[in-house]
Amino acid sequence: ETPVIYVVTPTYARLVQKAELVRLSQTLMHIRNLHWIVVEDSPSKTQLVSDLLVQSKLPFTHLHTETPKEHKRKETDPNWLKPRGVEQRNLALQWLREHRKLPDAGVVYFADDDNTYSLRLFDEIRSTQRVSVWPVGLVGGLRFERPLVENSRVVGFYTAWKPNRPFPIDMAGFAVALSLLLANPEARFDLLAERGYLESSLLQSLVSMEELEPKADNCTKVLVWHTRTEKPKMKQEELLQKQGLGSDL
Ligand code: UDP
Ligand code: MN
Repeated sequence: ETPVIYVVTPTYARLVQKAELVRLSQTLMHIRNLHWIVVEDSPSKTQLVSDLLVQSKLPFTHLHTETPKEHKRKETDPNWLKPRGVEQRNLALQWLREHRKLPDAGVVYFADDDNTYSLRLFDEIRSTQRVSVWPVGLVGGLRFERPLVENSRVVGFYTAWKPNRPFPIDMAGFAVALSLLLANPEARFDLLAERGYLESSLLQSLVSMEELEPKADNCTKVLVWHTRTEKPKMKQEELLQKQGLGSDL
């Protein structure tokens, strides 16, 4: 049987949220045997996300947990100061451990709401036995980062930023078998992980580099891009609102 792909997406309210989730949902609609776990960074589930999930017709689980105030990025903080989506991804892991059991077949992929995903990526994810890896485009100050492969084994990483990280792999660059997560109930993302070490904090308790399964033609194809959406300017919006001329939909 084909394993279910559990796509875990943390998301939070901002002007572009709906656009991001429409785009991502319309990618996921093309994938069979997929279960979307959307975890809102909010004190409660929002109508916007609830409606979007129902309209997508995808099998989904809708969760929420607010990032503790002391860990939340302020408007003025640089975007790299605090890790983002950590508690949300951990809640998804907890949900999977409470609602799935060995030997349920599945693969877990952490898909942020703003990246760009090729449909071909999901064919690669599907065959994950333990932990699979592949290149990620537009990340780490490079056109791409990627695992280096020799004789179908990962022997190192092409990366420039903090190359000594145990697993210098972006969140979008790996998938984990559900069975491995169930067999390692303590494995989770560390909210206090140093910048760049979030992925390592999970992967270290699951695999060694030698065990990684290279996908995407031995990590020679880019099938996911770490795109980021520009924050829209709202100058005119604010002016109109101030004049009482604002419009709502
Ligand atoms: N995110 C979140 N709460 C936040 C900031 C981000 O849940 O306060 C989510 C966001 O929607 C995305 C993921 O966490 O799915 C990663 O955030 P972002 O894309 O801003 O990180 P970057 O790509 O800059 O590393
Ligand atoms: Mn992002």
